Amino acid sequence: MKIAILGAGFTGLSAAFRLLQKGYQVTIFEKEESSGGLAVGFKLANWQWSLEKGYHHWFTNDDSILHLAKEINHQVIIERPSTDVFTHGKRLPFDSATTLINFRYLPIIDRVRVALILAFLKILPSHHLLDGKKALPWIRKFMGEKSTKLIWNPLFTSKFGKFSEQIALTWFWARIKKRTPSLAYPQEGFQAFADHLGKEIKKMGGEILLNTQVVELVSRNNDVVVKTTNYPLRDFRRRRREASQLPTTNYYFDKVIVTLPSPIFTKIAHGLPKQYTDRITSIPHLHAQVLILILNKPFMDKTYWLNITEKDFPFLILAEHTNFMDSKYYGGQHILYIGNYLPPDHPYLKMTVKELLKVFDPFLKKINPNYQLHTTNYQLFIGPFAQPIVTVDYPNLIPSFTTPLKGVYLANLDMVYPWDRGTNYAVELGEKIADMIDKDHAKVK
Ligand SMILES: Cc1cc2nc3c(=O)[nH]c(=O)nc-3n(C[C@H](O)[C@H](O)[C@H](O)COP(=O)(O)OP(=O)(O)OC[C@H]3O[C@@H](n4cnc5c(N)ncnc54)[C@H](O)[C@@H]3O)c2cc1C
Repeated sequence: MKIAILGAGFTGLSAAFRLLQKGYQVTIFEKEESSGGLAVGFKLANWQWSLEKGYHHWFTNDDSILHLAKEINHQVIIERPSTDVFTHGKRLPFDSATTLINFRYLPIIDRVRVALILAFLKILPSHHLLDGKKALPWIRKFMGEKSTKLIWNPLFTSKFGKFSEQIALTWFWARIKKRTPSLAYPQEGFQAFADHLGKEIKKMGGEILLNTQVVELVSRNNDVVVKTTNYPLRDFRRRRREASQLPTTNYYFDKVIVTLPSPIFTKIAHGLPKQYTDRITSIPHLHAQVLILILNKPFMDKTYWLNITEKDFPFLILAEHTNFMDSKYYGGQHILYIGNYLPPDHPYLKMTVKELLKVFDPFLKKINPNYQLHTTNYQLFIGPFAQPIVTVDYPNLIPSFTTPLKGVYLANLDMVYPWDRGTNYAVELGEKIADMIDKDHAKVK
């Protein structure tokens, strides 16, 4: 049986890996010049390792992806970097019970309340008790007004904007439940790991067609047609307006797994009923915007992750990657991510690096007044549809693997619930869809 997989992110790669192990013929189509999807990396000439365009790490309990790394013999590094919060113009540790108890901007009674509620969420084995509840009102009630105002409200508002009060408590539970103080990272970066998996896929006879964008998907009685354009990416950007006139190629498959965001799936697939399209595209998403500063001196002394809870800051988090992985792998340079999640119409998404830095500069200087002197290079990355907005209605909107189109399956990050999307769940999703297709095939036989 011939199976096409649309998208070479971790869902597509892991589905391909498992299907090939089960003896199917697999071809992956990827529009970008490398695999990895939202975890894609880049490498400067003087670097030994590649770096994710958007900050990435694993928790030490991300079992599906850690198991996969072990299976293909990819080394994993475990470190315990520091997670801090920026409040009242200061960086304070915020990643364990001890750091919470010392959190001086909250009265002691509120610190104890926060610590107890976080401990409760951590030990609660399942989310069912919390289903249907909104996170911020619940947090306000149980952790108190003071901590909500100081920590949780700013974090929810800068991540989810106008949706902040609507976010499901199950999403918050999952964030607390999953967090581990130690973090894991694949040797040489996520791109190296994706490339390693790609090599294993090719060894088993799988095909990965990069720079190949799927523009149409047509399900027929006996097969599914995948129509693609094949072009050098840079040319395509120049010729975007003429995209519809680019030469296309048709491929024919028995089954197709789509791992693309739902709004892209509904644009390329022919014959989807409107009711289905309306439902799966009703999940709102935020785009990720990440500005990377490459510096010749550290930005923060040892902080890896800095949650910003100060009012009016124009960014959500800073992550100093080289306070997690050694700067020696990046030519001795220091890497700072400035991260935001933004609605599709947000003006930052149209800004150049220069324009963004003009906005960010006064705020970065509040943390390190000299950072500009040390900046040698920049990179700007936008991850489309990177964060679904998990409101209390979310479980009713999650699409299923099967679609109204015969032979066409959908497996994308909107299906990761209640956990926050991540490469671990992409691997889990890929494995589940591979299993399902295998079982469906066995029934037909
Ligand atoms: C800023 C940021 C930080 C993150 N941090 C972490 C983290 O610390 N740890 C973690 O585990 N996860 C993290 N994630 C999430 C993680 O990257 C994603 O959950 C995961 O990579 C999703 O994989 P996927 O294969 O489901 O989707 P994607 O990675 O989105 O893959 C879909 C693929 O489809 C391709 N595609 C789209 N349209 C077409 C088309 N028409 N034709 C062909 N190909 C197409 C895309 O180019 C892409 O490669 C982060 C994400 C972002 C954006």
